[in-house]
Amino acid sequence: MAATPEMAAHIAADDALLDRDMLVIGWPHEALDRAFTVEGAHRAMQRHASCPLDTCARKRAARKTLVDAGHMVPDPRNSRGLE
Ligand SMILES: [Zn+2]
Repeated sequence: MAATPEMAAHIAADDALLDRDMLVIGWPHEALDRAFTVEGAHRAMQRHASCPLDTCARKRAARKTLVDAGHMVPDPRNSRGLE
């Protein structure tokens, strides 16, 4: 079954509103194929707060966006070998 545009919009709106404290099966942790906005990066950092930085490419990409934008100072204790 193909998702209608209405359904896709609903899912996107749902995604934006949901506070996902728990990881669901299939929740994407791959890096996006486009750059994060600062706002999007902040949301991704919250969503992936419990993800290990070394296994979650999404979180690394979000973190890099925030660091590059000057919104976050990398903690040298947590970034060994990741840059
Ligand atoms: Zn993640």
